[in-house]
Amino acid sequence: MTPEEIRGLTYTKKSAYERKRGESYLSDIGTYAEGYMKFLDEAKTEREAVREAVRLAEAAGWKKFSFGDRIETGGKYYYNNRGKNLFLFAVGSRPLTEGIRISAAHIDSPRVDLKPVPLYEDGGMCFLKTHYYGGIRKYQWTATPLALRGRIVRKDGTSVDIRIGEDGSGDPVFYINDLLPHLSHKDDSRPLAEAVPGEKLNLLAGSRPVPGESDGIKLNVLGILNEKFGISEEDFLSAELCAVPSGRARDAGLDRSMICGYGHDDKVCAYPALTAVFDAASSGHTLMCILADKEEIGSEGTTGMQCDIMLDLIDEICAARGASPAAVRAASKCLSADVSAAYDPNFSDVFEKRNTPMLSCGVVLTKYTGARGKSSTNDAPAEYVGWLRGAMDEGDVVWQTGELGKVDAGGGGTVAKYIAKHNIETVDLGVPVISMHAPYEIISKADLYETMLAFRAFNVYDGPAPAEE
Ligand code: MN
Ligand code: MN
Repeated sequence: MTPEEIRGLTYTKKSAYERKRGESYLSDIGTYAEGYMKFLDEAKTEREAVREAVRLAEAAGWKKFSFGDRIETGGKYYYNNRGKNLFLFAVGSRPLTEGIRISAAHIDSPRVDLKPVPLYEDGGMCFLKTHYYGGIRKYQWTATPLALRGRIVRKDGTSVDIRIGEDGSGDPVFYINDLLPHLSHKDDSRPLAEAVPGEKLNLLAGSRPVPGESDGIKLNVLGILNEKFGISEEDFLSAELCAVPSGRARDAGLDRSMICGYGHDDKVCAYPALTAVFDAASSGHTLMCILADKEEIGSEGTTGMQCDIMLDLIDEICAARGASPAAVRAASKCLSADVSAAYDPNFSDVFEKRNTPMLSCGVVLTKYTGARGKSSTNDAPAEYVGWLRGAMDEGDVVWQTGELGKVDAGGGGTVAKYIAKHNIETVDLGVPVISMHAPYEIISKADLYETMLAFRAFNVYDGPAPAEE
């Protein structure tokens, strides 16, 4: 062999900009990013993400489904699970025994939730007590403008949706106080993880009293809340209120190649999974797109991926088509769509460069996650990864593989194992993120676009099944 021929045998990761040159590509990824950024601004909480996804689904001709409803071949349905978890499914004309193509992303993001009895006054200020949600570096959430979003449900079942403190609303924002550098000499020697204890994440909510009252500042805030939303202090008991970074997603970098925004994890996978299932609804394959809640806290509860609703829906589809649910699940394939950590040269010591996703090198296929010896990971079989390589090639997708940091450096989990345990072949795939779980995270527009292409390729691929043993 010539040196050139041998060179041709090597594998080199290339950036999306190297693989796909030209103005039309840049315009495609820019246009797609605009739609995503609108979604991101609307969908800071899982409830808002479901509401926005339902709106988009209905506009694309998808119909609301309730258990027991008739399911028709060629039909496009969505099942709204308690307003916090959404399933979309399109029933294809091909035999259901070929399996269902499932893309599953989560729509909850790390944030700071209010406690059931949050409101108190201290030191001339009024605060709201919080309990943070998901894995955050707590110091990052101080000294930055925060919005409050969520729902309050009254005893009589009526509810009020809250959104205070977003750009352009003229609303005030909330804030978590931090220590000034002048007085932090003792504090600065503490480990970062202990710098801001959870009980110090109190949301500043007011400083002007009702005159003559002992807890006048709290009373004044309560009065404002009642005037605006018709609620009393007791209504906080049945509320889900989330402090999230205030403001819209923005272009990042002078070249506008990236997006700075809150909640890329995992809306940056949820949105492409959603639009790709809209695009591929008539591919003939039976498709399902799942937008899950509670991934950041272990996929628990009725709206997390550990709940059996996915099985109930597969059973209903199988009953309508006269197929065996066990056979259908055994032939099904899933992309567990979640973000990965992009290589960051500023923190290079936690990454292993050869096996870490690089920004702008496309969608990341993560064969296994886990930590300390692949513990608790799904670890997709080579046969399935091989099949996906075929799908990616056919869809002209720029993709890369990746691990979450160095061996023994840490690790993380996704919903993959909760789907794989039902005998559904599953692998993780998603967008590389810089500063994951920070109030504002960074992603590349090219990676976002390639992720959409990956879901589309997965949904429509007719390629060879994995070879038999
Ligand atoms: Mn995630
Ligand atoms: Mn996460």
